Amino acid sequence: MRVIVVNSGSSSIKYETFDLATLSAASKGLLERIGTQDSRLKHRRLDPSGKWEEINETRPISDHREGFSFILEVSARSRSGSEMAEIFGVGHRVVHGGEKFREPAIIDDAALGAIEELIPLAPLHNPANVTGIKVMRDLLPRVPQVAVFDTAFHQTMPPRAFHYALPAEFYRSFGVRRYGFHGTSHQYVAGAAARHLGRPLAKLNLITLHLGNGASAAAVEKGKSIDTSMGLTPLEGLIMGTRSGDIDPAVHFYLQRKTGRPFGEIEDILNKESGLKGICGMNDMREIQKRAREGDGRAELAFEMFCYRVKKYIGAYYAALGTVDATVFTGGIGENSALVRSRTCEGLSGLGITLDENANSAAAGGIREIQTEESRVKVLVIPTNEEHEIARQTVEVIGKAKGQKQ
Ligand code: ADP
Repeated sequence: MRVIVVNSGSSSIKYETFDLATLSAASKGLLERIGTQDSRLKHRRLDPSGKWEEINETRPISDHREGFSFILEVSARSRSGSEMAEIFGVGHRVVHGGEKFREPAIIDDAALGAIEELIPLAPLHNPANVTGIKVMRDLLPRVPQVAVFDTAFHQTMPPRAFHYALPAEFYRSFGVRRYGFHGTSHQYVAGAAARHLGRPLAKLNLITLHLGNGASAAAVEKGKSIDTSMGLTPLEGLIMGTRSGDIDPAVHFYLQRKTGRPFGEIEDILNKESGLKGICGMNDMREIQKRAREGDGRAELAFEMFCYRVKKYIGAYYAALGTVDATVFTGGIGENSALVRSRTCEGLSGLGITLDENANSAAAGGIREIQTEESRVKVLVIPTNEEHEIARQTVEVIGKAKGQKQ
């Protein structure tokens, strides 16, 4: 039997299927450009010899319903013939679970209604997630479906960390507070770190750094998130590919007064034209590192600013936690850029963090330790796998629900 993990975006659907018994990936794919004449599906499946086989198809797809049907059709048609035949459950990535969802939830009408009510908090993401849920419920009515929330892992933050210093009315009436995102990734790498270190997660203090195009840091105390850098929205915190991260909130008003542009436009600039792209015109860290090496001053500044911001958060979360067992790097940049890891950890020996530069720059996959022997704090590189974590939680939640029924 299979578990399907679905990440439904506004014009794309990403999916992965896992073998129920082993939770190993069996097929995965991405359908892009939904709503156009040339929607492209890239479907990959593991053939019996253990090699990935790829199918590429282009056809007009007008909406998500057609999109999911197309995916199910291509999957069923591929060689095993029954790839989607027996589906144990579907796990949906849902960006915002507000305060309502502290854990993954079986999707019934009430849960779906609650996710829809949260749309004002995540207007860019939750609507597409809701569409994906509705379509999959229609297409596979007998298969249990589970929502796994990006915010849920951070629901353990104490009030001193999640409140903003604003009139209390805004929290009470509009839910204005820190929620945090990337929770599935922070939770996955925290669990993987505990297994790697051979210690119970409930006894570990970790600083987890998810550094990708979107980036966030989390302070994990005894396995629970006690603070994280993203806030009401994913705009706060670290410098990202195109998002500013922390800035003085007065910048918005100043810009509005100076440029006369409406707040909607300024919001767009902060989300889509800022961060690394705003500083140097590029949002791809590989490209930035290459240009910085060639002497491009703006690229160098973007790189330095990115690493300096991460370092400041390590310091802040070290203080919040008191003692730290390990710092974990993950995400496209965290996993692959030795230079970012090196610059970020530079000068942290006073905190007991020192990198072994040979281990750091060694080309290796999988989980690895990159600290020196003297380093009090372990420094780990752990490839994240949000889809796997969603599949694991989906199986757990469905198992529990079935257990309760019996
Ligand atoms: P997303 O948040 O979209 O999932 P990823 O986690 O895939 O993004 O991270 C994308 C980022 O990772 C890009 O900035 C990319 O340049 C960076 N990256 C990937 N490989 C490397 C590498 N070898 N060195 C530096 N940066 C890298």
